[in-house]
Amino acid sequence: TKREEEESVRRSKALEQDDTNTLRKVSRQEYLKKREEKKLLELRDDIEDEQYLFDGVKLTEAEYREHRYKKEIYELVKKRSEDADNIDEYRMPEAYDQEGGVNQEKRFSVAMQRYRDSGSGEKMNPFAEQEAWEEHQIGKATLKYGSKDRKQKSDDFQFVFEDQIDFIKESVMDGVNFEDELPAEALDKSMVKSAFEKLQEDRKTLPIYAYRDDLLQAIDDHQVLVIVGETGSGKTTQIPQYLHEAGYTKRGKIGCTQPRRVAAMSVAARVSQEMGVKLGHEVGYSIRFEDCTSEKTVLKYMTDGMLLREFLGEPDLAGYSVVMVDEAHERTLSTDILFGLVKDIARFRPDLKLLISSATLDAEKFSDYFDSAPIFKIPGRRFPVEVHYTKAPEADYLDAAIVTALQIHVTQQPGDGDILIFFTGQEEIETAEEILKHRTRGLGTKIPELIICPIYANLPTELQAKIFEPTPEGARKVVLATNIAETSLTIDGIKYVIDPGFCKMKSYNPRTGMESLLVTPISKASANQRAGRSGRTGPGKCFRLYTAYNYYNDLDDNTVPEIQRTNLANVVLTLKSLGIHDLLNFDFMDPPPAEALLKALELLFALGALNKLGELTKVGRRMAEFPLDPMLSKMIVASEKYQCSDEIISIAAMLSVGSSIFYRPKDKQVHADTARMNFHTGNVGDHIALLKIYSSWKETNYATQWCYENYIQVRSMKRARDIRDQLEGLLERVEIELMSNSNDLEAIKKAITAGFFPHSARMQKNGSYRTVKHPQTVYIHPTSGLAQALPRWVIYHELVLTTKEYMRQVTELKPDWLVEIAPHYYQMKD
Ligand code: ADP
Ligand code: MG
Repeated sequence: TKREEEESVRRSKALEQDDTNTLRKVSRQEYLKKREEKKLLELRDDIEDEQYLFDGVKLTEAEYREHRYKKEIYELVKKRSEDADNIDEYRMPEAYDQEGGVNQEKRFSVAMQRYRDSGSGEKMNPFAEQEAWEEHQIGKATLKYGSKDRKQKSDDFQFVFEDQIDFIKESVMDGVNFEDELPAEALDKSMVKSAFEKLQEDRKTLPIYAYRDDLLQAIDDHQVLVIVGETGSGKTTQIPQYLHEAGYTKRGKIGCTQPRRVAAMSVAARVSQEMGVKLGHEVGYSIRFEDCTSEKTVLKYMTDGMLLREFLGEPDLAGYSVVMVDEAHERTLSTDILFGLVKDIARFRPDLKLLISSATLDAEKFSDYFDSAPIFKIPGRRFPVEVHYTKAPEADYLDAAIVTALQIHVTQQPGDGDILIFFTGQEEIETAEEILKHRTRGLGTKIPELIICPIYANLPTELQAKIFEPTPEGARKVVLATNIAETSLTIDGIKYVIDPGFCKMKSYNPRTGMESLLVTPISKASANQRAGRSGRTGPGKCFRLYTAYNYYNDLDDNTVPEIQRTNLANVVLTLKSLGIHDLLNFDFMDPPPAEALLKALELLFALGALNKLGELTKVGRRMAEFPLDPMLSKMIVASEKYQCSDEIISIAAMLSVGSSIFYRPKDKQVHADTARMNFHTGNVGDHIALLKIYSSWKETNYATQWCYENYIQVRSMKRARDIRDQLEGLLERVEIELMSNSNDLEAIKKAITAGFFPHSARMQKNGSYRTVKHPQTVYIHPTSGLAQALPRWVIYHELVLTTKEYMRQVTELKPDWLVEIAPHYYQMKD
């Protein structure tokens, strides 16, 4: 109907203003604002001298800018038609690295010219997008450089227009212990070999191979060893195999932790190939909600969070002969807690070997922490890397990164090396992939083939392998990666790294208990790791999409460890259930802020997981069994009382999948929205809507077709089903019966409230809400089914900060419930 359509349009607008993509804009804006202000100041100074004179005529500032802009375009067009004939190649940024040493003639991008010459008819203009982009660049150019060096106006203008991105070579990072000779064994046999033999030979070319025996000796001699080596030297894939070959697995498993899920899976897959066994047999991996190991497994790759959970069942890790805490430099929350725990058990298990491995050289800190454990350095093999900075800050790093990649691709010999770009997350990577495809589409053989390989945490496993496939002759690979490619995964053949300088980072405010994920400038240490990825197989180049000034003055030296910027409730619950009571005296490498610890204790007390003495209660013990945030665990435990555990675990599973349940194809937004709103009939709230989605899908016997019809992502639903199955198993473990109470929505909502009562909010005027406990203005997220209904009281699953502070996954609440369910937390006002 018409109303529905209007509604949908309105909703689209709201969504455009705020979908998760805008996540990056907020923090970027802050960061860029600073840079922008600096630029404006410069601009203003320039204009002031000139008093807005243009060709001798006095003008207002606006007129002056317009004139200048027009004139520049005119000159540009003129110059372009003069030059166009002379140019027949793209040029690398190095052609104009040195300031002043710029060769103007060579800068014309011939591909653009070729697009024109190819003349595919007037109506269907395949270059429309390209032209629009050019115009955009012109706009940017005037904005950026318009006021500078007016004497060389036209030159300057071209400079920007043609270069697209303007880089300055700033420094060369030296190679490290570069040896270009491969071990002899690798070169000897050039006969045809089986894939397995080839893999065995590859293993011998890794830098670590030459140190195999020394390393095994050192491990034999010392209980704790810190191992340092460049990314790609073979630490993760080889050390566990060496230990296996040396017989360590006869006494127990070898566990190797990774901060990231994808790394654990991908490395395990690689090692199983190298050992010629099936993944899940001798070599396996374990990540949250996915266990790919068996009785046979002796080399176990897992996330650091999973090893932490294993302490719950096996506090002395009796099943392990070696624990390798890998990627220690990442300093994730779980890794930091593991440090304390493994250090402790090493004291009473002298037979346990402990390896702490890291990609960065500041290993002394690890050594100091582990009672001066010896450091084993694997001399790396890194070639020199040229570092280039932009001349001015790039306002749109996504676009700048793509332009730079295409620039490299068309100017450099195909086959000379692949490109790696660092983005902050899945949405960005998907956008970049789309734009890259769009810009290279229809160019056919005019440019060499460009193979686009995305890699991020939620990428389906089958697609992950693509990044490791060798690049075919005559083609080039461009890998679009998150931070995962910084040190966790090594991709061979990368020669060019493009670094926009940002990553997504958690931050936590212990006062309000609010956690948010923000796009933040990276640290210098990260920037250098990223640059290093280009120099693994030969001399490399790194293009930083920020200025040298930014690097030296705006970036922190090191990333703050996660433990100092996160919510600790989960970890505190785990530690408490391990019998560690005195948290303030826990042996932290870097202690968390005391308020954050207190806040966590306070929350766990409110949830009934701890008693007044800070001891674990029966509820707390049950909660700790679930690998979920304490509020979700509490909701599940409370479902026993409301006899709706069946429904509650479906909701918990759906909430754990995240925000990727629905999709909204651009050409079918109305349909998609209508389908979505169907689940919200009667303003049941988002939690119940999630339950309805799950139940409806289950009724169709988990049909894929049903997902298509309802604009729901099959993959997300399958994941929800897996998670739900595991939660069902855990219910049994904590002896909660699976009970269904699907008609009593109030009971279900009360169970939710029993976990989420600290997240209550009350409506204010004008559609805003005020959180009850730590008063703060928040809004219902536009994707919520209650975004129009605006109930007086709500509870929410989480807050996300995008353009505003939004509550995501919201359900209506009766205020009486708060007093009934959490009388220690809320009191009725008279
Ligand atoms: P480190 O842990 O020291 O950074 P790795 O052991 O991860 O080094 O990597 C060693 C080599 O193994 C890499 O150079 C890469 O060639 C190869 N490799 C690692 N993981 C994979 C994978 N999933 N697929 C293909 N090759 C891989
Ligand atoms: Mg590694």
